[in-house]
Amino acid sequence: MPFHFDQIFNQIAELIAERAATKINESVQRGMREGAHAVSALKGRKLDMRCHYPGCKNRSKGPRFRFMCEQHLKLPKREQIVALETWRNGGKGRKRNRSIPRQRRALRLAD
Ligand SMILES: [Zn+2]
Repeated sequence: MPFHFDQIFNQIAELIAERAATKINESVQRGMREGAHAVSALKGRKLDMRCHYPGCKNRSKGPRFRFMCEQHLKLPKREQIVALETWRNGGKGRKRNRSIPRQRRALRLAD
């Protein structure tokens, strides 16, 4: 029996092409799903109206009141600011904002 290399090769190539097409389709569909999910996540994003004082479960009076509840609005402004910074850092206390050096670098590049 003669060895039909071309025929075998073609069959393998077809199989690979088929697999590749399936994989591409899968990843495209996954990408579309993730894209749609990202959009809906953004859409469903609501203003966090909880009091930004760490550990406080009260509803804040909104952005005009630094997201402080009635109770924590009575605190000295300095304490409120510290509380806000703590809240922004995920309740981990004061921390340097990592985006600042990146912004500085961008500015330097723009010069
Ligand atoms: Zn509070």
